Amino acid sequence: MENLSLIPGKVGAAPMQNIGAYGVEIKDTFQELEALRISDGELVTFDRAACRFGYRESFFKREGRDLFVILSVTFRLDKAPHTLHTSYGNIQQELEHRGIQHPTIQDVSEAVIAIRRSKLPDPAVLGNAGSFFKNPVVDPLVLEAIRAEYPDVVAYPAEGGYKLAAGWLIERAGWKGHQRDGHGVHDRQALVLVNHGGATGQQVFDLSTDILRSVYERFGVELEREVNIL
Ligand SMILES: Cc1cc2nc3c(=O)[nH]c(=O)nc-3n(C[C@H](O)[C@H](O)[C@H](O)COP(=O)(O)OP(=O)(O)OC[C@H]3O[C@@H](n4cnc5c(N)ncnc54)[C@H](O)[C@@H]3O)c2cc1C
Repeated sequence: MENLSLIPGKVGAAPMQNIGAYGVEIKDTFQELEALRISDGELVTFDRAACRFGYRESFFKREGRDLFVILSVTFRLDKAPHTLHTSYGNIQQELEHRGIQHPTIQDVSEAVIAIRRSKLPDPAVLGNAGSFFKNPVVDPLVLEAIRAEYPDVVAYPAEGGYKLAAGWLIERAGWKGHQRDGHGVHDRQALVLVNHGGATGQQVFDLSTDILRSVYERFGVELEREVNIL
């Protein structure tokens, strides 16, 4: 769970979109949850299979939306030896930068927090919902076509093909740091839309639509919003 450090939010919301970061998702340590069924007040236990976790997805974000209140979540954590996941993103570089050769769980957590603080705006200071779009998974042929024109495209092997970094696509489509009417695209992480103050939800949504269109026109890749639209 150390890789999930500094993801803002409450524990009851964590299974909703199977929160994840740096190659780890909540489903990796999830055991079960207890939820109140709103229709009849019954308490229902969901194990991992019943939650139908996917990439930023779960039963509760789809079919079960607004039907349950998650009351408690049980996690199963490793006892020693614990396997650390430090190969994703810049965790390894951050540990090296700190002169740490044999990291502890706390070292990894602190490295993740430092990386996130350097890249992501603090919602208490600058309004944002974190990553606005999911990283799209594309066919190897699509990746090849993009790579022919952009050799530095960021991609990881994933189920069904290759996961592209949505932030990279948005940045390359020219949106990083874009500003309009009090809102825009964060200047350090193009995946994050920000409200500098006063912009409406509709304006932020319209900006996200413009970004979707422009990324599709440029790369032929359809982005999907990660956020819930209320
Ligand atoms: C700066 C920033 C960085 C972020 N980084 C990440 C990241 O790295 N990875 C990631 O996965 N997410 C990330 N997020 C998104 C966010 O942190 C998660 O979605 C988090 O789980 C939201 O928690 P919350 O308590 O604020 O939930 P809310 O936003 O209040 O609720 C989210 C949804 O869950 C429902 N819900 C909340 N609690 C319950 C409950 N107990 N029972 C039933 N339904 C419930 C709500 O109705 C709503 O539909 C980031 C957000 C920000 C602002």
